[in-house]
Amino acid sequence: MKFIETRGNDGIKPEKVEFSEAILSPLASFGGLYVPESLPNLGEEFINSHINSTYKELAKDVLKAFEIDIDDALIDEALSRYDEFDDANNPVPVVKVKDDLYISELYHGPTRAFKDMALQPFGVILSSLAKKRDENYLIMAATSGDTGPATLETFKNRDNIKVCCLYPDGGTSDVQRLQMVTEDAKNLKVIGVKGNFDDTQEALKSLLASKEFKDALDAKNIKLSAANSVNFGRIIFQTIYHIHSYLELVRDGSIKVGDKIYLVVPSGNFGNALGAYYVKKAGVPIEKILIASNSNNILTELIEEGKYDLRDKELIQTNSPAMDILKSSNIERVLFDKFGATRTKELMDSLNNDNHYELTIDELKDIQSDFSAVFMQDSEAEAIISEFLSNGYLMDPHTATCIKAYREKNEKMLPMVAYSTAEWTKFSPTIAKAMGIDAKNDKEALNEISSKFNAKIPDMIDNLFKKEIVHLKIVEKTDIMREMLEFLDS
Ligand SMILES: *Cc1c(COP(=O)(O)O)cnc(C)c1O
Repeated sequence: MKFIETRGNDGIKPEKVEFSEAILSPLASFGGLYVPESLPNLGEEFINSHINSTYKELAKDVLKAFEIDIDDALIDEALSRYDEFDDANNPVPVVKVKDDLYISELYHGPTRAFKDMALQPFGVILSSLAKKRDENYLIMAATSGDTGPATLETFKNRDNIKVCCLYPDGGTSDVQRLQMVTEDAKNLKVIGVKGNFDDTQEALKSLLASKEFKDALDAKNIKLSAANSVNFGRIIFQTIYHIHSYLELVRDGSIKVGDKIYLVVPSGNFGNALGAYYVKKAGVPIEKILIASNSNNILTELIEEGKYDLRDKELIQTNSPAMDILKSSNIERVLFDKFGATRTKELMDSLNNDNHYELTIDELKDIQSDFSAVFMQDSEAEAIISEFLSNGYLMDPHTATCIKAYREKNEKMLPMVAYSTAEWTKFSPTIAKAMGIDAKNDKEALNEISSKFNAKIPDMIDNLFKKEIVHLKIVEKTDIMREMLEFLDS
């Protein structure tokens, strides 16, 4: 299957590319993104044929259905990363918490957040493609939380890829920072930046735009790629678990093949939700995809009112930081799928130039045939965490945002699957606060919650506090380029 561009073609880039090309060089014409030319059929026949499949068997057939130009041996190697999850036979447990509510836990991988679902296999494929072509790539990420650790973990000691993560000094949780600064490998660099997350992102942007940096990379024969969800190599691995959710409800006897369900997705850059949209379009019986947000409610406004307006918006720091976002990249792929390249380019140009766009009434109705959305304040999320924990289910603040959608948006009274995108261990101070527990730092919060609620702290989190810190650099924004060039020479 070939991949085409969301904003049309500029006459310089090829009009269609293979999957491998789309993931090595993810930026398409006019700043657009790559999308599959068509979608496979993953409807009832496909579902019926996978009732008895393992997660990996299902994954393999989904990837095959997309006809990607990656050979079987490499796909097998990539999917074997799921063997390292808590339970190799069941990497994504779907837990029944109420008669009509299941929680699909996407956090059982090495960094305890859902980014592992896609980044673990993606890292294997990207590195292998680069090696085969004898090319060297640099991946740079500005992170406030989960993308950094998951990207470092997947590319650690892999050939032909170097990774640099920038994080705001003081702007991450202790656990998230330790996951990065203790990651010891020659091809990894982690730099703390003096400033907040916006400053860090700005610093990365200006570095990537600088001619001096570009020339230096050219001279060293290093190309830039990206590991965030603008890369379709992330999205494809984020379609599989939505089908797995459906299959688990069939296996549990809560639905028959053909019955519809709701999915609730706590969303930021919309990669997780886009995966759900693609499988809905490909024939999986999903009534609607419910989008959960925190007080950065830009997605709620788009889906409920049809406007994307950043003119009066500032980023709000919440207790679900992985969803603190203003520009949600993957909405563009939905716009393209529904309205085509010309209209998508018009809308995205308007967003970039004027900081807003507005959909027509008919366009809004079209969006609302697939999506519905709600958002939640931090205090509401804490109340939900406390309520569910009192009934024996421990969830993180991102997951908690799903529960409002469960309560307010189940219009057809169907079974619902909500996604849990992080383990509680990554956000233990928020859990402690919700439960009225005093804790000075992550370590105290982890121990208090663990003993009080009999919750296990996995070894990879516990060990973080004993590991040696290897990335000590905290620098001014203006010093990042010098640090980078030193690293690339080493
Ligand atoms: C990345 C992330 C999200 C948001 O996912 P998107 O695909 O960007 O919408 C939600 N929760 C957690 C914990 C995350 O790490």
